[in-house]
Amino acid sequence: AERLKAGLSRTRQQLGGGLASLFGRRRIDEDLLEELETTLLMADCGVDATQHLLDELRRRWKRDKLETADQLQQALSESLLEIVAPLEAPLQVEGHRPFIIMLAGVNGAGKTTSIGKLAKYFQSRGKSVLLAAGDTFRAAAREQLMAWGERNDVTVIAQEGGDAAAVIFDAINAARARGIDVVLADTAGRLPTQLHLMEEIAKVRRVIAKAEPSGPHEVLLVLDANIGQNALAQVKAFDGAIGVTGLVLTKLDGTAKGGVVAAIARQCPKPLRFIGVGEGIDDLQPFHAREFVDALFA
Ligand code: GDP
Repeated sequence: AERLKAGLSRTRQQLGGGLASLFGRRRIDEDLLEELETTLLMADCGVDATQHLLDELRRRWKRDKLETADQLQQALSESLLEIVAPLEAPLQVEGHRPFIIMLAGVNGAGKTTSIGKLAKYFQSRGKSVLLAAGDTFRAAAREQLMAWGERNDVTVIAQEGGDAAAVIFDAINAARARGIDVVLADTAGRLPTQLHLMEEIAKVRRVIAKAEPSGPHEVLLVLDANIGQNALAQVKAFDGAIGVTGLVLTKLDGTAKGGVVAAIARQCPKPLRFIGVGEGIDDLQPFHAREFVDALFA
């Protein structure tokens, strides 16, 4: 919880700091609500969630006769919690062995780093892990993954050159032969506008289903929180191509755009499996709605 609080400090300054200055100085009135609207938009809550929050606050202002800024802030954090709570759905890897997790996203979103963190996360819960170096476009990504695997004694299936589908196909068979619990499959970064690459990742997904008819069991889209509202378009595009079942939102520590979680919840809800709040190995945490909202207003 402390790491989360530290990680969310920029968003908190944007949101909480904005609110503190709003709430600190006066009673609730229409002007204050309008400034609050601007503050929420600047924290990247998006038009839809912001509108919803303001409607809710106006309703409660009248109905519950809110008077003090404190009461308004309380009402705001309750409404925000209501919006983001449905995204809380921690990833369970029981039920399939190997449990196949495919990761996708644009370049630099944090896929490769997140794979290392996730491997640690599952290992610390007693699961054996195998990595598939499916980013065959960037030699550096493969090397990064192999180096990480070596340091942490985790098997990495990789091929020089080769194609992603083949690497991941091999990895699944290797995992099955060795009785591994979790396969984490990396893929090359790509933009939703690169249609041939979106077609290629759809093919990777189909090949996984050939290697394991029940899989992939999780399709994680990794999003950099700094992209703010663009996250919505990425979710929709990747979902259309590969059927996204969960999100990883990285770099919340470096951004004031943490409100994007509310925008996602309202406009393209998908389970938010993990949030990244720093570069350390333990800085990828399962998303807990109440902790998240509390950290924003702490
Ligand atoms: P990929 O291209 O999607 O595989 O992205 P990488 O995994 O190579 O990550 C790109 C950069 O983002 C690296 O410098 C990571 O250390 C950094 N990064 C990833 N996740 C986080 C996070 O949650 N917080 C911070 N501060 N940096 C992160």
